[in-house]
Amino acid sequence: MSALTVRGARLLQPDGTLVEASLRAVDGIITELGPDVGTEAGDDVLDGAARIIAPGFVNAHTHAAMTLFRGYGGDLPLMEWLEQKIWPAEARLDADDVYWGTRLACCEVVRSGTVRFWDMYWQPAAVARAAEDAGLRATVGLPLLDGLDAAKGAALRADALRSLEELEDCSPLVTPSFTPHGTYTVSEASLAWIAEESSRRGLAVQIHFLEIEDEVVGIRERTGEAPAAFLERVGLLNDRTVLAHGCWLDEADLDLVAAAGCTVAMNPVSNLKLAVGRAFPYAPARRRGVAVALGTDGASSNNGLDLLQDVKVMSIFQKYVDDDTTALPATEAWGIVTGAAAPRLGGTPVEVGAPADFVLLRADAPELGPGHLLDNLVFAASGHVVASTVVAGRVLMREGIVDGQEEVVARARERAHRLGILD
Ligand SMILES: [Zn+2]
Repeated sequence: MSALTVRGARLLQPDGTLVEASLRAVDGIITELGPDVGTEAGDDVLDGAARIIAPGFVNAHTHAAMTLFRGYGGDLPLMEWLEQKIWPAEARLDADDVYWGTRLACCEVVRSGTVRFWDMYWQPAAVARAAEDAGLRATVGLPLLDGLDAAKGAALRADALRSLEELEDCSPLVTPSFTPHGTYTVSEASLAWIAEESSRRGLAVQIHFLEIEDEVVGIRERTGEAPAAFLERVGLLNDRTVLAHGCWLDEADLDLVAAAGCTVAMNPVSNLKLAVGRAFPYAPARRRGVAVALGTDGASSNNGLDLLQDVKVMSIFQKYVDDDTTALPATEAWGIVTGAAAPRLGGTPVEVGAPADFVLLRADAPELGPGHLLDNLVFAASGHVVASTVVAGRVLMREGIVDGQEEVVARARERAHRLGILD
């Protein structure tokens, strides 16, 4: 048995108020929460003085190992950046590159309070091993890209199934998924195959969807259908599907997405940096009750992985495009960054019986001083206000210290050199 106690802290409520609370977790589950929780001999103990217990954050869309490519070809137009820089470099990646790139991402996200990430990247077994060694929860998958060539896609199916087999024995914190890259890079036949296989296995599907307008045009040209109707016909519009971006969804698309129970992962910083031309239509999505979450996207298109920075951009971007200061208020933004607005993504509240996934925030940080706490967290804070991060009852960052961080940074630097990213 392993037990963790947080002594003498305060607990953040969904409305931003605080109550006195200590917490005890046994074998990864919160067993006690309240003012009178005692510590038992042998417990790992975190001092909660000047600390606030809050849910950890869920990164709903990323490519973790792309920390190796941060800043590489940074300001190029999207397709030039992909074709001249990213794809050639990715062709040289091996499992150790992906492992250390992902470990670097894990250090960064643990430091900023993320407890779970949804990843789409090459060598998913290496991603899984990195998440496991870092102690984080992750949903991973091998991207499938067939260049809209059904024959090529058929030949890639064995790789997709083999990668799932490789993930069978991985940590219980890691979940496999199917990850077709996007509708402009994957043939209809491959998408339909993934729909069938993911349904049979009950696995989630992560797909880039309507990041740029050309995707809408392409689907209409190839099929004569509207984008969400196309996804529905191939069998991918359901409650296991996570649509990354969704910027160009229109009202009719949103009707279908809402009815199907899909989750949309917004990536506002990546969308702004890559100048995709539109913000995710949050207000009409909210009216329909669409499940929404927040992703950073990869570190080469953001370029950080700190969700407390992105949650501010998410909110103020919506306010700006809607010309409406109430478009995405702090309380809703907090629900999105903690995963509460997207129940299928696995974020959990801090309560008895829930997994012991949480953060301790620095109540004494200047940004969290006077003022409404949720406003301060969403609009003033960054990941620096996170003092400790706990996943499944294991302390991954303790008062600002992540064990092994120096080695991870050094090894990731070596891998970037090997790939020719650094001089
Ligand atoms: Zn992406």
